[in-house]
Amino acid sequence: MSVDRKITCEDCKEYLWIAQGGCPPDHEGTFYSGEPHTMAALKHFLFKHSEHNLKFVPEHYADYLEGYKEIDADNFKEVKR
Ligand SMILES: [Zn+2]
Repeated sequence: MSVDRKITCEDCKEYLWIAQGGCPPDHEGTFYSGEPHTMAALKHFLFKHSEHNLKFVPEHYADYLEGYKEIDADNFKEVKR
């Protein structure tokens, strides 16, 4: 079973789903680098939250994400990259 992975900003309480898997012992996961809209969303996320406290967390941190706003990568399908 694969585990969702999200990049989060603790300062703004936002997160973006960008990967799956990556569990021990091999830490091999799938990063959505083949999805241009996901990379556009990630680019926006990183620049927006530059110098903020970012974490890359697996889904069992669900309690930690309580109250966080999900940024939907689908909203970046029409964004100029
Ligand atoms: Zn932030």
